Amino acid sequence: IDPHAAAGAPAITPAGKAAYWMPFTANRQFKEAPRLVSGADGMFFRTPDGREVLDSIAGLWCVNAGHNRPRIVEAIQRQAAELDFAPPFNMGHPKAFELAERLVQLTPPGLDKVFFANSGSEAVESALKIALAYHRARGEGTRTRLIGRERGYHGVNFGGISVGGMVGNRKVFGAMVAGVDHLRHTHDPARNAYSVGQPAHGAELADDLERLVALHDASTIAAVIVEPVAGSTGVLVPPQGYLQRLREICDRHGILLIFDEVITGFGRLGAPFAATRFGVTPDLMTCAKGITNGCVPMGAVFARDAIYEAFMTGPEHLIEFPHGYTYSGHPLACAAALGTLDTYAEEDLLTRGSRLEPMFAQAVHSLRGLPHVIDIRNLGFVGGIELEPRPGEPGKRAFSVFLDCWEQGVLIRTTGDTIALSPPLIIEEAQLQRVIDTVAAAIRRVA
Ligand code: PLP
Repeated sequence: IDPHAAAGAPAITPAGKAAYWMPFTANRQFKEAPRLVSGADGMFFRTPDGREVLDSIAGLWCVNAGHNRPRIVEAIQRQAAELDFAPPFNMGHPKAFELAERLVQLTPPGLDKVFFANSGSEAVESALKIALAYHRARGEGTRTRLIGRERGYHGVNFGGISVGGMVGNRKVFGAMVAGVDHLRHTHDPARNAYSVGQPAHGAELADDLERLVALHDASTIAAVIVEPVAGSTGVLVPPQGYLQRLREICDRHGILLIFDEVITGFGRLGAPFAATRFGVTPDLMTCAKGITNGCVPMGAVFARDAIYEAFMTGPEHLIEFPHGYTYSGHPLACAAALGTLDTYAEEDLLTRGSRLEPMFAQAVHSLRGLPHVIDIRNLGFVGGIELEPRPGEPGKRAFSVFLDCWEQGVLIRTTGDTIALSPPLIIEEAQLQRVIDTVAAAIRRVA
């Protein structure tokens, strides 16, 4: 019995239901039978009616240290009472500088500058704008083309959906940003189904960039942006050697490589960043989510020194990069991030995924052979279980598994017909087993 529920957590009112236009939600269906959480601790959410729900997705790939961690809570509380806001343009506050210093100690060598935003989407827009402005600053202003990848997700702003490759997020928003092209995606179940870790086949798909260079000419291309592991389109793990090859081709043609690490940053793959794990250093790297353990909105872009330096020319009293947000480096976000980094360090969470990866892999691959399961993919603390879609009803089979798991007290996430698991990095083996057993039972019952 949950003591907080006994105190009577407020339910939602009909007027509240009517007023709230929910994001990325089937509003009418949700409002018929709302799924609410009103509290959380460690690996669990609490519902207003007093149920505990095991969180197997770190909220939304963000609560990497688990919920309501004391150091982070205290840091936010203290900061709110001390300095609520500091203007970020031509002004500063000490914690933003302290956080920048701490963050660049975690990034691969060379990625030593950080620009703050407030979300993954804003981090992506910032990175794309840095890439364009960088080339112009160096006198290569013809490099204006941006290259994304099919099945990529880079948030929901215009730059992000333009380089992104999720048709549902693009098709109703008109022409978007001009001068964008896309690499082919790397998903190849015919050759790679049930790969444990990185799939063996597909490094050559990076050569698609050579095709686009041949088509557009390198002198028109500013940057390529990819997720090292694509999360939102169903956990697509890069083939062995693919990212290395992409790096080589970018180098050959003077094209900037951007890793969107909004999901993969901060320990998700068993290393601080995917760049660390794969040994491939991009020129720009975005992050969000785990930077504050999901507690206060924050995003960031890491940049190579040389990129920053390219901007540091011209009269010193002029703004070098006309971009930034009212809430860039917000004091509450900085405090939350510092508390988060302390928690990660004290509990060795940024590398825990590498130690437990064999256990995690074994657990998710144990679902092989269940009805309608057609592929399972994993890396670090990310697992994807793909189900065969019901004829004519894409996504519905996985969603019914999601609903059944919710009823059984486990929160999973589905994207299309893929179940994506990305638990807080503190998960214990018995909790993971409960997730797997619940998913297995749900697949047998409703899939
Ligand atoms: N980029 C990637 C790779 C993401 O996975 C996400 C969100 O899931 C975003 C960008 C957008 O982040 P936000 O929802 O914080 O804007």
